[in-house]
Order: sequence, then C-alpha cells, then structure tokens
Amino acid sequence: MNKYDVIVIGGGHAGTEACLASARCGSKTLLVTQSFETVGQMSCNPSIGGIGKGHLAKEVDALGGVMAKAADAAGIHFRILNKKKGPAVWATRSQADRSLYKSFIQKEIKEQANLDYVNGEVVDLVIKKDTIRGVQLKNNEIIHCNSIILTAGTFLSGVIHVGNKSYSAGRLGEEASNKLADRMQELDLMMGRLKTGTPPRLDGRTINFDNMIKQSGDEPRPVFSFMGKSSDHPDQVNCFITRTNEKTHQLIRDSLKKSPLFNGVITGKGPRYCPSIEDKVTRFSEKNSHQIFLEPEGLNTNLIYPNGISTSLPEEDQENFIRSINGLEKVKIEKFGYAIEYDFFDPRGLTSYLENKKVQGLFMAGQINGTTGYEEAASQGIVAGINAALKSQNKQKWIPLREESYIGVMIDDLITQGAPEPYRMFTSRAEHRLFLREDNADQRLTRLGWELGSVTQERYDFFQKKLDKIETETEKLKNLKFLQEGKQIYASDYLKRPNTSYAELASLCPEHKLVDIAIGQNCAVNIKYEGYIARQKLEISRNKKDEELSLPEKINYEKISALSIEARENLSLARPQNLRQASRVPGVTPAAISILKVQIKAIKNNKEIARDGS
Ligand code: FAD
Repeated sequence: MNKYDVIVIGGGHAGTEACLASARCGSKTLLVTQSFETVGQMSCNPSIGGIGKGHLAKEVDALGGVMAKAADAAGIHFRILNKKKGPAVWATRSQADRSLYKSFIQKEIKEQANLDYVNGEVVDLVIKKDTIRGVQLKNNEIIHCNSIILTAGTFLSGVIHVGNKSYSAGRLGEEASNKLADRMQELDLMMGRLKTGTPPRLDGRTINFDNMIKQSGDEPRPVFSFMGKSSDHPDQVNCFITRTNEKTHQLIRDSLKKSPLFNGVITGKGPRYCPSIEDKVTRFSEKNSHQIFLEPEGLNTNLIYPNGISTSLPEEDQENFIRSINGLEKVKIEKFGYAIEYDFFDPRGLTSYLENKKVQGLFMAGQINGTTGYEEAASQGIVAGINAALKSQNKQKWIPLREESYIGVMIDDLITQGAPEPYRMFTSRAEHRLFLREDNADQRLTRLGWELGSVTQERYDFFQKKLDKIETETEKLKNLKFLQEGKQIYASDYLKRPNTSYAELASLCPEHKLVDIAIGQNCAVNIKYEGYIARQKLEISRNKKDEELSLPEKINYEKISALSIEARENLSLARPQNLRQASRVPGVTPAAISILKVQIKAIKNNKEIARDGS
C-alpha cells in the first residue's frame, strides 16, 4: 500500500476530478487531503456554471468527470443565462445545496475502483534527479509514487484578512499549508501572490423578502450532465434580488481606510471580474446601486449567500453597510466576509499536459495555477489526472486543443500568457465559439475521453445511442417539408433562419413527432451553424501545418534581435512547444512568427542563425 502510480494532493474541485480521472484511466491512485470531511467543499458561492463556466462543466462531464452529475444531484435552482444571445453562448447555471454536493462527490470517491484516500497533510515532496518519487506526510510517513498532482488551492501560505485582522489559514476555519509552501519555494519555480474574497453569510429568517424581486428557476428545467435527468434534482427554491443604495456606498467609502484591500495590507492581485463591493464602489463611482442576488445555500439550512458583496471590511462595518440594504435592515450575519491571499505558480512553468517543466512527474492543477473558480479548477484537474495516468502507463499524453474545447483554450492561455491576475473563463476567450458550444460538448469530447480511458463504457454506450438519434433526426429535418405563407419549405432551411427554434416545429408541422427536446435542439443548432462551422474547420486545417511546427528546445530567444524585447522576454518565460502556442504569447506578432519559422528551419538544417533572424 506504500506505492502508487499517482498521488493527488488536495481534495478540492481540481483534486477530486484529478483523482477520479486517474483512477478511471486505470492507474493506482491515492488522494491525500487534509480532511476528507471537506472534500467537495464549495469555498465560496454555492453554484456551478454560468457564462463560460457552464461550458467547462459540460466538457468535464463529456470527459467522464463528476462535476455536472454532482450539480444535478444537488441543484436547487437551474437557469440558462445569455438566452437573448445565440445558442453558442447559452450557459447553464445551477444553485447547489452545499451539503448534497459534498456528499455526492465524497460518495463517488469512496466507490471509485483503483482509488484510495487518506486524511493527511503533505509537508514534503520526494524528488530525485528532478523527478518525483513520492510525498512525505506530517506524521513523517513517506508514500512512493511516479507522479504527483498538486492541487492545494488557496492553502499555500494562505493569509485571511478581515479589516485590520490578518491570520494564517487555508480557508475559514482550516489551517494553511505552510510547510509544503516552504518546500515549494525551495524548488525555485516562478511564483507570485494572488487574492480572492467571499461575502458574509446571512440568516434567511432575519431577511424581509417582501419588497425584493423573486427569481424562479427556468421551466423546462435545464439539466447539467449529458447523462442527467430533471428527476435527479431535489426540490427547487427561488432566489431573490435586492440592491445596494447611496447610503450603503457612503458607509463603504467611510470605512475604506480600514479595508486591507485599500490600505496596502493586501498586495496580491484579485479577480477583476469578481470584484469586492469596496472595489465596485470605488471603480464604478458613477453607479449609485449594485445588484445583489440572495441565494439559498441549501434545503435544510437558513443560510443565504448574498452574491455581489464580497468584502474584507471590519466585521462591525460589514454589519453597518449590509443593514442599509432593502430587506436586510434586521439581518443577522452568521459568518463574516473575508479576503484571502495565497501563493500561486506562474503557469508558464507548465507544459500543455499541466506537468511542470522543471520537475518530471509533478503535475499542477486548479487555483495554484493562477485561476479562480470551481469549473476552471475541475477542468485542469481532469486534464492532469488523465495525463498523470497516461504517463504512469508509458502512454502518449494528451494536449487539449483550443479548437476542440474551452478546456484547451484555458490551458493554452495559461501556459502562454501566465496569470497576471486570477484567470476566469469567458466565452469571449475562444476563437471558435460556434463550434465550442455547451450542447455539443459530448460530440466534441466523449469519444476522445473514451479512447483516453477516462470515459466509462456505460457513458460511451449512452453517447453512441444519442449520436444515432441525432443522425436520424437530422436526416428527417433535412427531408421534412411544410407549408409556410403558401410556400413549401424544408424544416432545415427554416431552422437556418434567425430566431427560429426546434420547439416551434410542433405547431408549424404537427405531423412531425418531436424527439427529446435536448436532442432536437442540438440537431437544430448543428443545422443552423453548419455552413459557418465547415468554414471554421477549413480555416483551422489550413493553418494547422504551420502551427504545429515545433520550436526546438535549444532555441535562444534572447539572441534573436529581430524580435521585439517584449517578445523575446515573454517567449523565454513561456518557452512554447510549437508555433501555435508561440502566436498566443503576448508581444508575438505575425511578423515575429515569420522570424521564428526561419529560426526553426535554420536549426533543423544545423545552420548558423543570423542575429537578425534571416
Ligand atoms: P481548493 O478547493 O481550495 O482545494 C484545495 C484542497 O487542497 C483542500 O481540500 C485542502 O485541504 C487541500 N490541501 C491543501 N494543502 C494540502 C496539503 N499540504 N496536503 C493535503 N491537502 C492539502 N471562485 C470564484 O469563481 N468566484 C469567487 O467569488 C470565489 N471566491 C472565493 C473566495 C474564497 C474565500 C476562496 C477560498 C475561494 C474563492 N473562489 C472563488 C475560488 C474557488 O473556491 C476556487 O477556485 C476553487 O475551489 C479552487 O479549487 P482547487 O481544487 O484548486 O482548490
């Protein structure tokens, strides 16, 4: 029991997907985490999905991961965001019952074959000749392995700030991982500090919801997992919307000097797209009100999560400003908001497999790579888990590509551009949005996941049956004609028009029996975009040959004076593996790519490279 193929350190969203994927792929895997009781914990908002993030969660699901299934088992409020825009950017979001979510994830881990787990803190990594050999726990036990996946989240040298109080912690009520952080410092990897924050939690019994806007979930109710059904969902609840006001903003401005974010105590950069209320009031000073979503934390708790007012002001100031908000005048705060600063590693130190470039067998995933969010963490976890398993079986590792998934977009962005601020997924980060949709994530990834070993036979068979249904229905839609305004039109031509939907066919053409609505919609969107997607695919394959040219390891960017200083510096840091990655490095222009092509040719021909790149 003292030797494993893969050891995963940390049971957060990255760690759970990593250990499950590695075990599914057939590698003997151990999860070491400080406390199994906290596995699957949602450190901040009790929700999965949202814009860009829903795409990631569905891709993890398509690869056999657990996040979307847990979101279905625990989901108490489901909506599709971005519905006014095109189907490519529709985004599923679910509100989760925290404890149901956690229990589901813990059960999956307990039942997974090839997977053991142990409560323990890793304090040291055993490394010989720059290669991972094992881990050492706090009780001095050494466990041997071929690969490690480090997913320590916000725990490495974590420091919590509330007003002028600062103390060491990994999350509220949990110890930071300082010994391992010290050991990581010794490895001399590129590191930095980032910060994130969370709002206070409120007692719902002390809130007056009467004058707030009620927000119900969508009907028909969306489902997260490709294998899920709405009958998997527990009871559903409503959320409510209230707003800050001029008085709230004045109270916040008055206490800014006590905020660690503004008085210089916090130095790490925070997530720009998930700012604290202190940030919002100062950065958008022209706005006299901000929206707050009041989201229940579960079915058997009175706790309410006020989404939109993350704060690290002193406790009494948090209470004052919150009580100035409509409906919260008498609210009881159960837990105060806080900010946390932590160590992260510059992801330019990783390969596309998420393996460290300096230490063989050290994979890294999640918040420690400079990302923020559960879905971003889970996506990296599943990639690291699959690749660590493939490595232990001496198989070719997997590079997720930009044109095939949002997971590929994120990893490519991280390893080429680093994380100057916490990285969050948005649909705008992807070039091939019409193809990278939520509804076709399984068609993009499930076969691949099955070949890699991360998708079970049961899921693969389920997917094959769905493909057959899609093929049959698409064929029918291409042959189906009906009368509209006195003219015969094909259903497929009708679906290509803007603002048409599959569901409308029921009234336009009653003799056509609609299939399962998700399958029908998927066929309709495929038909709508088929011309654009074919053009995108052609463009991708045209560029592919050039982009896949690998950059020789011995290339010395500092010496290529034809490149700008910025390009030289950033290429030296990122050390991209091929021209495709190089093109994403900040400062690398199309002209710089031409210079690099000449360099590749010269190195291949063993020629002296001229300093001007010719
Ligand atoms: P985590 O979920 O942090 O898990 C880390 C795991 O590693 C834990 O289980 C821990 O016990 C374990 N561990 C650490 N060190 C060791 C060790 N040495 N040995 C063994 N086990 C170890 N995301 C958003 O999208 N929006 C937000 O507004 C937001 N706010 C946040 C606010 C706070 C206060 C925090 C803490 C996080 C917030 N996040 C937010 C981020 C989100 O929680 C994380 O991105 C996500 O949980 C990261 O997952 P992870 O698996 O990388 O790490």
